[in-house]
Amino acid sequence: MKTFEELGVAPEIRRAIEEMGYENPMPVQEEVIPYLLDQIRDVIALAQTGTGKTAAFGLPLLQQVDVKHNVPQALILAPTRELCLQIAGDLADYSKYIDHLKVLPVYGGSSIESQIKALKRGVQIIVATPGRLIDLINRKTVQLENVKYVVLDEADEMLNMGFTESIDEILSKVPQDRSMLLFSATMPKEIAKITKKYMEAPKEITIGRKNEGSNNVKHVYYMVHARDKYLALKRIADYYPNIYGIIFCRTRRETQEIADKLIQDGYNADSLHGDLSQAQRDYVMQKFRVRNLQLLVATDVAARGLDVDSLTHVIHYGLPDDIESYNHRSGRTGRAGKTGVSIAIAHVKEKGKIREIEKIMNKKFEQSTIPSGDDICEKQLFAFADKIEKVKVNEDEIARLLPSVYRRLEWLEKEDIIKRVVSLEFNRLIDYYRDAEEIETPSDRYSREDKGGARNSRDRFESRGAGGSRSAEKGYSRLFINIGRTDNVNPATLMGLINDFVPGKVRIGRIDLMQNFSFFEVPEGDAQKVISSLKGQEENGRRISVEVAQGGAVAERRERRPSYGGNGGGGSRRGGSDRDRGERNSFSDSGKKEHRKGGRKPKYS
Ligand code: AMP
Repeated sequence: MKTFEELGVAPEIRRAIEEMGYENPMPVQEEVIPYLLDQIRDVIALAQTGTGKTAAFGLPLLQQVDVKHNVPQALILAPTRELCLQIAGDLADYSKYIDHLKVLPVYGGSSIESQIKALKRGVQIIVATPGRLIDLINRKTVQLENVKYVVLDEADEMLNMGFTESIDEILSKVPQDRSMLLFSATMPKEIAKITKKYMEAPKEITIGRKNEGSNNVKHVYYMVHARDKYLALKRIADYYPNIYGIIFCRTRRETQEIADKLIQDGYNADSLHGDLSQAQRDYVMQKFRVRNLQLLVATDVAARGLDVDSLTHVIHYGLPDDIESYNHRSGRTGRAGKTGVSIAIAHVKEKGKIREIEKIMNKKFEQSTIPSGDDICEKQLFAFADKIEKVKVNEDEIARLLPSVYRRLEWLEKEDIIKRVVSLEFNRLIDYYRDAEEIETPSDRYSREDKGGARNSRDRFESRGAGGSRSAEKGYSRLFINIGRTDNVNPATLMGLINDFVPGKVRIGRIDLMQNFSFFEVPEGDAQKVISSLKGQEENGRRISVEVAQGGAVAERRERRPSYGGNGGGGSRRGGSDRDRGERNSFSDSGKKEHRKGGRKPKYS
């Protein structure tokens, strides 16, 4: 292994990173740094988050920037505001001893004016989200003609988020002879296209195998009927009393609904998705980071900004459409040398998808059965016993109170006292699970209900959700199109269709993909043109039809609230653990849950 000095890193940078505790280069740094310092033009690095990639591209960039020249020389594009801030912060730390070096993060959701002012004062490195950078380019407030280095960080994420067009536009504004460095955890076709288009004989570096994922993650799936998904989720959460995890949902609406239900059922959960304001998202993320929140229900996109290393579990509330998303989601656990579990709550029709993921990731999934009520109670009981063993006893404070309590309980044997303490904590949980029906694992030959009903129920659910009732952004029309995920549609295909068939340039706003249909938004003035140009065209052999969604009228016709399991019960871990401090749990004596009413959520402990 080489040292940073042997890799050619300058002394003032070494001084800063040594202070940060970087003793030796990480593998990606050992591979990338010499290339960038050697002026090799383009590099593709396949590396997961957490591998040290920021320093891999950051250190050589900082070293090559000419501080006497107060214009942007390096441009780093990142998918989210949080990643943008993180990169800019890391670069500022690395360049602590380089005088006059300025790094500016530019991202949406904060004042563009102050970013413009900072740009006017002069910066050498810009770290940007594509959308905001396009805004600045359009306002002619950012100059990119002196950019020598472009870094696309988490390139696969940027494409997943529909930034392909923005990236194209940005790259057309930087000089052709710039070096380009592309970081991606995975190598989907779209990335290969970008590398072909913009890179010249790139050096390809792979840290770990492509699409492989971490070895510290155990992959598990539970096969359930569609109607049992939510109950299964609760049982899984109950079975892991110390869970600290993200539950991934496919749509914003589903995310909100699942989070609401979990909160109502007494879980320490909250939601994170794009319908929340930036301030709300920041608040939830902060709560989760400091572990005041145990379960975060999130969409893939919203969870991207969150960098947490110690997740115990990632739960897929339904499998994502593509392997990249699965890989990204599950890569959020098992980080920093820890182990983690990636749990898919899958519908029987998704079995093929599991096999496909197994093949591509070269990993075996373990099929588990939903824990029974007995299993859960036992697990919770042991966790409780563990807490009793480990609880910090404040001898001085309680010494005064104990003698009278001892006197009062003197007549009881030790076993009796334990029995009573446990009963106090667990009676309601035990009652609930005694009455709850076990969740059946469907056989491979899926039932009539699952064949038709599940797909329809998802569609009804989705149409009611992210798609149907939403109204369009100001100045945009919301259109319904009769193709969706089952037709292999993703934002890129939808944009491709519009590019191919609709004359002129059409800006595309929000896209919501559903299982069998989708919604997308275009400027009001372009709506009719888009509808008539796409009408009758074909995608994958399916004749396309497009119409104005009119505030959800199209979707609403298909709507019916999905049902999640007939007994509607909710086993809540609140029944048992010390997370209940100060807030009693959610079971009434009849064993049925009562809804928590907006009380303070107990701290994770
Ligand atoms: P990144 O993949 O850039 O987000 O880095 C993951 C984590 O590793 C961050 O906390 C970095 O500060 C840390 N890190 C990066 N390079 C090194 C290094 N050479 N030695 C120790 N820690 C590092």
